[in-house]
Amino acid sequence: MTARHFDIAIIGSGIAGGALAVALKDSGLSVLLLDRRSGPLDTARGDHIQPAMQSVLSRWGVMDQLLEAGAERRAGTRWFDAEGAHIVTVPVPQGEDCAGAFLFLNHEKIGDILLDTAEEAGAMNITGLADWSLTRAVGSWRVDWQATEQSGSATCTMLVAADGTASTVRSRLKMGLDRHRYQYPIAVLYGRQQGVSDERTLDVYLAQERMVSLIPRTGGRTKVGFPVSPEDIGFWKTEPEESLHRRLTEWCPGVSFDSLTFGAIYPPVSQQSEPYRGEGALVLIGDARHAMHPARSMGMNTCFRVADQLADSLRCLSSGFSEAEVLPLLSEFGARFEQELTPRLAENHAAGLQMDTITGGGFTALKEQLQLAAADERILGAMASKAAGLTV
Ligand SMILES: Cc1cc2nc3c(=O)[nH]c(=O)nc-3n(C[C@H](O)[C@H](O)[C@H](O)COP(=O)(O)OP(=O)(O)OC[C@H]3O[C@@H](n4cnc5c(N)ncnc54)[C@H](O)[C@@H]3O)c2cc1C
Repeated sequence: MTARHFDIAIIGSGIAGGALAVALKDSGLSVLLLDRRSGPLDTARGDHIQPAMQSVLSRWGVMDQLLEAGAERRAGTRWFDAEGAHIVTVPVPQGEDCAGAFLFLNHEKIGDILLDTAEEAGAMNITGLADWSLTRAVGSWRVDWQATEQSGSATCTMLVAADGTASTVRSRLKMGLDRHRYQYPIAVLYGRQQGVSDERTLDVYLAQERMVSLIPRTGGRTKVGFPVSPEDIGFWKTEPEESLHRRLTEWCPGVSFDSLTFGAIYPPVSQQSEPYRGEGALVLIGDARHAMHPARSMGMNTCFRVADQLADSLRCLSSGFSEAEVLPLLSEFGARFEQELTPRLAENHAAGLQMDTITGGGFTALKEQLQLAAADERILGAMASKAAGLTV
């Protein structure tokens, strides 16, 4: 079978793959996206775009589509204690270098916008892969695939693995992995909360036992996330709405829902893959490279950051580039990744560990830190800047 040649093939067209394809849209490089998925992305995942990332999305030309699709603005994060008393609101920094609000939109819509934009700019996007194989040729990779109705082949000079936490590219090429499995799964519920103001905020309750996050969704809805013990999963999956409601009201006094339904359970991990050290030009991005705990709205935002940095590293290439040309650029990108992202991953892991409890004891130490921030503008400003993605 004749195989069409692409400069870059990306395996996995989730947020990381889609973001890279969009970031490369004006580069003149030919891009192929391949994914086994045929439906939309999982709606529970990353839906809040940090202020610091919005200038990147503007530069990629997708901000208008996000707003047209219904993206809404949210202010900062409000923290409450186990009695429901407000401790502090971490604001969004205001300034020329930063959008003045988070932007939120359902994950699958963000993914669709990235892919539509990439396709409009000429990227080829093939979904529904039942199987695929990877072989090395001289100075390139060859991918052969079987999709629902057809098979196909392509060669590429550079291969990108953006196939998520359980990356098949990583396992097939036997790359190492440093993984921390958090003890407690995260339960996600969806509801319509009462008394939500027009200025949406992300609300975190430091309940006696666990941290409960009430995360704005578009149209006045709310996504609720909290750790559960494995024995409790059955309760959240099967009990009637009023039982779920009662339990949440115990944890978050003063919070009430008009409707509340169980969504899903996620086993959070923090993991970092080794960079590829074999023959050929290959790089891992997104969760395939650096999966994070969902505690601090960072996984998807880090996909944007890394896609932008990788596209920037490749900017000097022209279509038809050789492996010898791209390899040094990938080494530079890898070094930049280590330097800039390693501290962000460590910070996220610390937040993940803090949330990974169902015996939090009211989170005394965290509450004290938040009280300090409430009393000191400098500390509060530093927290705000970190949450916005402006600093680590
Ligand atoms: C409950 C939850 C809430 C979250 N909330 C936030 C948040 O608020 N903010 C934030 O920034 N981040 C959040 N995240 C993290 C964020 O969603 C992820 O970091 C991000 O979506 C990762 O994107 P990705 O493209 O790397 O991986 P994925 O989204 O997993 O995409 C991988 C793609 O590869 C495809 N694929 C997988 N295997 C193969 C294969 N063998 N062959 C072909 N294709 C394959 C899949 O079909 C998929 O389309 C959350 C995560 C979870 C679980």
